[in-house]
Amino acid sequence: MVIFFILSGPIASPLPQVPTATNQFFDWFFYGLQGLGGWLLFLLLALGAMVWLLYDSQNRRLPATGWRLGVVLLSLLLLPTILYRFTVTDLHYRIYQVLQLYGDNCPIDVITQNFPEITFTDCNQLRRSLPPLTPFGEYVFYLGLLGGVLSPVLAVGYYITFQGMSGCPRGHLYEKALEKVPGQCPQCAAEEAQRQRPAAEVVRFSPTPSPVPAPGPMASPHSKPVKPSRPALQYAWLVDMTNNRRYDLYEDTTRIGRSGESDIMLTDQAVSRLHAQIRESHGHFTLTDLDSSSGTLLNGKKLRSPLVLQNGDEITLGDTVLHFVSSN
Ligand SMILES: [Zn+2]
Repeated sequence: MVIFFILSGPIASPLPQVPTATNQFFDWFFYGLQGLGGWLLFLLLALGAMVWLLYDSQNRRLPATGWRLGVVLLSLLLLPTILYRFTVTDLHYRIYQVLQLYGDNCPIDVITQNFPEITFTDCNQLRRSLPPLTPFGEYVFYLGLLGGVLSPVLAVGYYITFQGMSGCPRGHLYEKALEKVPGQCPQCAAEEAQRQRPAAEVVRFSPTPSPVPAPGPMASPHSKPVKPSRPALQYAWLVDMTNNRRYDLYEDTTRIGRSGESDIMLTDQAVSRLHAQIRESHGHFTLTDLDSSSGTLLNGKKLRSPLVLQNGDEITLGDTVLHFVSSN
């Protein structure tokens, strides 16, 4: 510390400190800015970086756990600064400096002369009266600086690393520009297409008679496990506005989900296997959420109990938005 250098040499008065740049900055950091303390600026920087990084990574569903943890930990480095500032006053700090300056030969009368506020008659007593963080001012100061500077630096690193990137609920990281359908992960879409291709081929080629004679009556070309076909209703259906795809509704119950058991099968990974159902009864359609993990929204509001659908209603399942159309 700078004070130790001053110790070498006779000291006339305890008070005039040699103002060095570090000393001045230390004073400014804790007690500058009209008593607020310059640390406040560093705290705002760190908090700004932290809030932005947490919000942005959440918003873009980025797998950036390390970055999030990092920015929170770095911002926490400012905690001791706040504790120090609100327990150690300017006066405590100056008294501590003088006590350090004199070491063991502490002339209490000289100190009391300069600090009329002091009523102690013994230096050890005076030393013990100082708040516990007082001797650690320097460490607190450097920690605070580090937190205030490194959190924004980390945020810049994060910004550069994830520029133009997006994530999906399954943890894929991809370039936003590669999205074919807005909001849809290309990796998930490719996997889905891969999964659907063999099934599609079976359907396409099944009507072609096999040149090899069938070994038995059971092995008909139509032996693919197909759901018993149900007549689609002609007066009500759902439409996905992003690709203008129409989904039929059926008599009685139509189940919507990602699983093959669903009547309306969605490829959206944010949709549960059996997500919701629409039940028809006397021309009325009731929407029910099937305990899906992300919930079902009707016109933007979370569906808490089954509700009857009206023409034009907007149903949101995961990232998929379907419109209910009824000509009834
Ligand atoms: Zn994905």
